Amino acid sequence: MQYRESIKLLVDLIKGSSKIIVLTGAGASTESGIPDFRSRNTGLWNKYKPEEVASVDALKKDPETFYKLNLQWWQGCLKAQPNRTHYALAELEKRGWLLGVITQNIDGLHQKAGSQRVWEVHGHLRSCRCTQCKKEYDINRLTENYWCDSCGSLLRPNVVLFGDPMPEDYYTAEKVMSGCQLLLVVGSSLQVYPVAGLPYMARQVAVINRDPTPWDESAAVVFNQTSSRVLNDVLELLKDETGPYYVE
Ligand SMILES: [Zn+2]
Repeated sequence: MQYRESIKLLVDLIKGSSKIIVLTGAGASTESGIPDFRSRNTGLWNKYKPEEVASVDALKKDPETFYKLNLQWWQGCLKAQPNRTHYALAELEKRGWLLGVITQNIDGLHQKAGSQRVWEVHGHLRSCRCTQCKKEYDINRLTENYWCDSCGSLLRPNVVLFGDPMPEDYYTAEKVMSGCQLLLVVGSSLQVYPVAGLPYMARQVAVINRDPTPWDESAAVVFNQTSSRVLNDVLELLKDETGPYYVE
């Protein structure tokens, strides 16, 4: 299918669906300069497996190495700015087309771009907490030291580490997926479970991801390219029309 035809098809799917949810992954943030954790990128993540570095075991075994390696990556996330993909999704929500965004990203860029309803299924980088007394701190506290003021125990970020249970937002996301007519997957290769199972709950799936995904075969429409162009073309075709969630 030609690009123009695919865009038209996606716009028709959007107009014909009364409950649309977006699922984003690392690919949504690559244009903000945040490297994909799993892609064959340069730098840090060539040398280390995320499963080994960003895990509960790694934190407990060797907090110094855990924070040395992870803080570098997290600080990059915190400094990043939203890109055209985040802004386009915020605009789609504002115009009433989206119920909200389920994201695997911890960078908070959807909120920075203006999205109101975001479910962060892998946690976030706004805060950290004590592993014992649960006292909460700002995330920047970790750059000073990672021991609790109250009880002296180890602090941990409020991101989901390998070995952690899924957070409340994940179960909320499962609930909001009920009755979803169109799941728009943006920049996720749909390989990390349980999030990769969410598309099963949607009547139809549309995929915008640079690399192929396991859902490409059964998706209603697939774009193997950068999401910012696709989403901005969709916005342009929708013109001034508003969707089912629009409020004056
Ligand atoms: Zn404590």
